Amino acid sequence: MQKIDKYSIDDLQSVSILSIADDLGLNVNRHKKCLCPFHEDKKPSLKFWTEINGWKCYGCGEKGTNIDLVMKKKDLTFHEACEWIARQYNIMLRHDTPQSKTRNPQLKTHISQPKAQNMFTLDNNLIAQCQDLKSAFCRSLLSTGILTESQLAHAANVYKLGTTQDDGVVFWQIDQDSHVRDGKIMFYNEDCHRSHDKNPTWVSYRLKKKGTLTQDWRATYCLFGLHLLTDDKAKTNKIIVIVESEKTAIICSELIPMMNNRPVIWLATGGMDFLTIDSLRPLVEYSVTIFPDTDTTGQTFAKWQSIVDSASKLLSHPFYISNLLEQHASKEQKERKIDIADFILEQS
Ligand SMILES: [Zn+2]
Repeated sequence: MQKIDKYSIDDLQSVSILSIADDLGLNVNRHKKCLCPFHEDKKPSLKFWTEINGWKCYGCGEKGTNIDLVMKKKDLTFHEACEWIARQYNIMLRHDTPQSKTRNPQLKTHISQPKAQNMFTLDNNLIAQCQDLKSAFCRSLLSTGILTESQLAHAANVYKLGTTQDDGVVFWQIDQDSHVRDGKIMFYNEDCHRSHDKNPTWVSYRLKKKGTLTQDWRATYCLFGLHLLTDDKAKTNKIIVIVESEKTAIICSELIPMMNNRPVIWLATGGMDFLTIDSLRPLVEYSVTIFPDTDTTGQTFAKWQSIVDSASKLLSHPFYISNLLEQHASKEQKERKIDIADFILEQS
């Protein structure tokens, strides 16, 4: 089994011991104590220290880190406990490789992305080969009147949108170093809603089927639009806004290019499950606001809020989550699970 890399373990160990205790079903009182699950405990003798993110039982003497607590409580190995915490808190685990062992520990401050030599990328020429405005997605943005012709041309150029032979749109995942991580192919109807007949797929999947990529090629995910950070001369002046769908980012980039007189870069996670702490790492020098989609139960908001809270803590940088839709969308809009672009378009 591959060893989990030291920096990932640092991330895991900085998850709050109290929230781990809560996840494990331990009832922590206001003195930060609970009944010890490791011996017959009558009065709470297990104490938590948030200052050092540790715990100790004064009855049986058991103690340790948050990983130790998960191992013992759930009867897991170290590796399994790490994976369990990583899943709970959306932390991406990296593994030791011969290269990363020789990595300079001082690089810890450079917490951007896995190093290029450990990462599979696609040929940048693929982008130019399919870049155009012919996809049903682009056509529908025009025919529905959401964007004008010049707005569409601009947005398609900024995000380098492509078209596949079967009329899919390609949303490239290009990172801040211009590495092409993969391309997501999606199918839209003329009304600018997703086609229910065709599932999304990936450029890498199709290239593997064609034999152009080897089977061991593995995509490493990044946020859609991340390549727009490369021109970062005015880093502190720019606002980064993250939404769920690529379509929303593209539309909003044209409709709301500025906020409070500051230029906005619109990024998308590409799905509710793809907002992760790791995906936020490249953004630690920016002001970042996150707009989750809304729903009637508030669960999408709650899920993203917990990730945003963990990320702010782990990456020591404040990420903001907007509750605008939770507060201002109508019940009917929440039932339709609208996003910020829908909300703006329906206001006007
Ligand atoms: Zn005990």
